[in-house]
Amino acid sequence: MDLKALKVNGDRLRSTLEEMAKIGATPDGGVQRLTLTDEDKQARDLFVKWLKELNLEVHIDEMGNIFGKRSGKNNDLPPVMSGSHIDSQPKGGRFDGILGVMGPLEALRTLHENNIETERPIMIVDWTNEEGSRFAPAMVASGVWVEALDRNWVYDRTDINGKRFEDELTRIGYKGTVPTKKWPVHCYYEYHIEQGPILERERKIIGAPKGIVCLHWYDVYLEGEANQVGPTPMEGRHDALCAAAEMILRVNELPAKMGGNMVATVGEIQNHPNSRNIIPDGVHFTVDIRSWDDGHALKAWGFVRKDFETIAQQRGCSIRIEETWRVEHSPFDPKLVQRVLDIAQELGYPDLRMVSGAGHDASYMNQVAPTAMIFVPSIGGRSHVEVENTRWEDCEAGANVLLHCILQSAEEI
Ligand SMILES: [Zn+2]
Repeated sequence: MDLKALKVNGDRLRSTLEEMAKIGATPDGGVQRLTLTDEDKQARDLFVKWLKELNLEVHIDEMGNIFGKRSGKNNDLPPVMSGSHIDSQPKGGRFDGILGVMGPLEALRTLHENNIETERPIMIVDWTNEEGSRFAPAMVASGVWVEALDRNWVYDRTDINGKRFEDELTRIGYKGTVPTKKWPVHCYYEYHIEQGPILERERKIIGAPKGIVCLHWYDVYLEGEANQVGPTPMEGRHDALCAAAEMILRVNELPAKMGGNMVATVGEIQNHPNSRNIIPDGVHFTVDIRSWDDGHALKAWGFVRKDFETIAQQRGCSIRIEETWRVEHSPFDPKLVQRVLDIAQELGYPDLRMVSGAGHDASYMNQVAPTAMIFVPSIGGRSHVEVENTRWEDCEAGANVLLHCILQSAEEI
């Protein structure tokens, strides 16, 4: 058969995504499948069932990563890998992550029904806890797999209710026995929604990011002094929330002050005791800084950190800062990126070179194997929200590009 004419089945991909979207469905059309919850388990069970229907060799490692392997003609050759994540943000969307797991599944179903055998084996992967919203930080399981993070450190991470990562992994039955440790990989493709507005704005269907920006996470803890709000005069207060308010605006002003090439965000805050008639005495908030230039991001952090210390002092609060997580910017393999663009053109999809502002497991995979990503448009550029949406035709287009990227790589010897 003419391999070049091979196409995925768009209707089947759609129904697969729709079936997954029922798990953890939210009333406003999104999904909530926080990592290592019952919903995560349910989605994993379904995924494993689908892998087994294709006679893939399934294994689950110590971090709960799920791998499905399709044999090649020569199984001594390192596999072509593709995958993403099944977990979601709280009140997240129906495409983030799951498209990159169901996309390669659809590609393998297409190979299967056409009896196509490749030289190299092909592997699908679902990485545990990509989102990092229940257990911070994000992308921990691919991080352990590439040996950038320590397994036991991740096991001891706790959620907001004090539940341990490892205990929850065991509870849902996905603490496997295979060591979480990298093996030789020929190349890695991650298929994902763009999560930004650029493809839509430029009227393109396929995006090929040249890489992922750096990602720096910080946690700030402020301690003030609680008191009755009525009798306590304004002078001499130690109001931790006012200090935080000033700091948050400094973070927001940071990219303009640094001359761009950067975004900076405070997205999470806890205020204690959070009562209208008590002066707040404890605040925790997060800072997220991203840039294509790691040095630029670090310099920015240096400035804002100094500001934080000054503000804390002026407000009579003590401050503690944790530098929670740093991932350097990762430029993808230029040859693979070009392949994504070439295949998009061959298939007649308008394509665009870009940068990924979101972190993905691909940035860890990029440390151990040639890596590229395939983006499709997010309607209105919205993501990590229930209205997150991507046209079904675009989901199909991205899966076709992925299919041919996988096929070409799997034939390389
Ligand atoms: Zn994602």
